[in-house]
Amino acid sequence: MSSNIEKVVVSVSIDTECDHDPQWVRSKPLTFDSIHEGLPNRLQPVFDSVGAVPTYLLTVEVLEDAACVETLNNMQGQYEYGTHLHAAFIEPEKKFQDYAGIDSPDFQCGYPEDIEYQKLANLSTLFEHTLGYRPTSFRAGRYGASANSANSLERLGYKVDTSVTPHMKWQEPAARVDFRRAPEQPYFPAQQNLSETQPYTEGRILEVPVTVKPRLFRDPRWFRPWFASVDQMKEIFRYQLKQHAQRRVLSINMMFHSMEVIEKASPYPQDADQVERFLADMHEALEWCSKEGAQFSGLSDLHPLYAEAP
Ligand SMILES: [Zn+2]
Repeated sequence: MSSNIEKVVVSVSIDTECDHDPQWVRSKPLTFDSIHEGLPNRLQPVFDSVGAVPTYLLTVEVLEDAACVETLNNMQGQYEYGTHLHAAFIEPEKKFQDYAGIDSPDFQCGYPEDIEYQKLANLSTLFEHTLGYRPTSFRAGRYGASANSANSLERLGYKVDTSVTPHMKWQEPAARVDFRRAPEQPYFPAQQNLSETQPYTEGRILEVPVTVKPRLFRDPRWFRPWFASVDQMKEIFRYQLKQHAQRRVLSINMMFHSMEVIEKASPYPQDADQVERFLADMHEALEWCSKEGAQFSGLSDLHPLYAEAP
């Protein structure tokens, strides 16, 4: 079959948070091994070794912690920082002052539009005051984003949102999101529906979906270490290439959490051997992508590849 694909771009988008426990509850007392050990010593060396440019999406509690900020400022290598919102942890209507031992079920899109906007604005200001520039990439906690979320992010100067998980739907007590019909490849989202596309208009935010492959009668499989073997990640990559052969640029977007490379800080790797396997699989998959001719990019640099000149 003929293909129009001229360029394959691989991004790695990482929800970057405090350590959790194997039940996905925040550590108590709150610890940040995933920042101090995970980013500089476990993740970034793998990315540097293959030339990948990860995007670390930072949460409120990481940006509020002085030691974390120092680690972030001292990071070597190529990477992008963006933001990641767990809506219960920031004003207005902030629910928790102490995040230790807390679960956070809220979808940001479950709040009224103006409250959600103010939460995103406060998170962006916190990022700017901490790191000295405006963030331009974002993912919603628990993927709980709607069209309002994308519109608010655009008003705040964001270039890319990566909250959409095609073929999936998510539910919390007060809200639900349904991405089952969302596009698998980057698109400019419609003003009223995050799962629908619209033609590019000046400044419109780009939606870069997480790379997911549907399966008949079984749960979709994500392009993600631990959830997929190296062979399965290759299969998902080839599926995208075949499915979207008419496109000029193909995007592959790996997602996971910083806590997944710290044993017992997430439901996934529980000991040192399992962490090693996670990192080895990630390395092998990314190296393979590179040998297949893929390039690596931070999330925000994808925007100009899709935005047409006015
Ligand atoms: Zn999160």
